[in-house]
Amino acid sequence: MKKTILPLLLAALLLAHGTAGAWGFFGHRTITQVAVYEVPSSLQAFYFRHMAELVRQSTAPDERRNDDPTEAPKHFIDLDHFSEDNPFGKMPRQYDKATEKFTADTLKKYGTVPWVVMETKDNLTEAFRQRDTLGIIKYSAELSHYVADAFVPLHTTINYDGQLTDQKGLHGLWESQLPERFINDYKLDGQPAKYVKDPLAAIWEVLQQSYGFLGETFDRATKIEKTMKPEVRFTFSHRYGKTSRRYSDAFADAYEKEVGGMVDYRLKGAPTLVSSLWLTAWQDAGKPDLNALMTPSKPTKEEKEKLNTELAAWKKNTLAQDQLLLAQQKVKRVEAADEIKSAKEMADPAATDAAPAPETPVAAPAAAPATDKVKIKTKDKDGSEKVKLKGDAPK
Ligand SMILES: [Zn+2]
Repeated sequence: MKKTILPLLLAALLLAHGTAGAWGFFGHRTITQVAVYEVPSSLQAFYFRHMAELVRQSTAPDERRNDDPTEAPKHFIDLDHFSEDNPFGKMPRQYDKATEKFTADTLKKYGTVPWVVMETKDNLTEAFRQRDTLGIIKYSAELSHYVADAFVPLHTTINYDGQLTDQKGLHGLWESQLPERFINDYKLDGQPAKYVKDPLAAIWEVLQQSYGFLGETFDRATKIEKTMKPEVRFTFSHRYGKTSRRYSDAFADAYEKEVGGMVDYRLKGAPTLVSSLWLTAWQDAGKPDLNALMTPSKPTKEEKEKLNTELAAWKKNTLAQDQLLLAQQKVKRVEAADEIKSAKEMADPAATDAAPAPETPVAAPAAAPATDKVKIKTKDKDGSEKVKLKGDAPK
């Protein structure tokens, strides 16, 4: 324990902004909660009873990044490091083949998220086999985290924060600032969980889509930069002698109009794969009776009513408006203590700058259509980094 007052204070400040690594805590929690609504009834009583804990633990992988040096690369894969033009043609899908080609050390450096998803899914299957309630909750939550990370385009590139294209802060803007600010405009409807025959292929497909969104992610920001002066684009804050910069609300509003549809598409796409992999692990474990793991073993009348209310709100897309998202609710004391670790990480100058607290939502924007046709180029040999649009962009 080497906590001092300063990081604690800083953590508290940053927590007030509700921010952390991938998707921010807000996104991870929302994705995990929605996944609970998508599982079939044979799993739903169990998952719903433990929903608060699942949602809480869904940020654990980010929280332990400071204490565990092996954790960070599990959340991403910098595909353009391996090939700018055709990473999916060059990178073997299987971990063994990928290490043979690129070495385990290189993969550790540039990220291992697809294989961490597989490993976590296997751990979850084993927990189901063992009828291990705590293990089921832990690995379900963590599987949700890593799968959700794979849905974020900026988790597939070396230019993960726009730092190579003078767009530093783009990461927090895309995955924290926008969802927190515009959740009332986003739709969270998704598909019911389905058994996944080939989970490895499924997660690679997600990464390929994410990678396809990179061109838009950078270019739409560049488009706004052309008409918005730097002093309007950014908000500067000074804390403890350190100046930090983040994208302003004005920029966030303009960026939302450009890519909000894409952010929503990724936010609501993730729970479908999360719930499907939960179901897959349960089936692969021989479909253990989850009611037998519950005390009381049947959902109570209250639980049933609550679940029905939430399912109805989810189907009507009013979870956020009805304040039913756990991510919107005040962080509990015990939870705040956990979060301090990841918030400390935010104090690291290398880490993404703090995202802002959600404010009064502005009028519903015209969402940009989702696309996965665009390819990008992020690096020139001379080190000057450029992003180029290769495909044709919609609109
Ligand atoms: Zn993460």
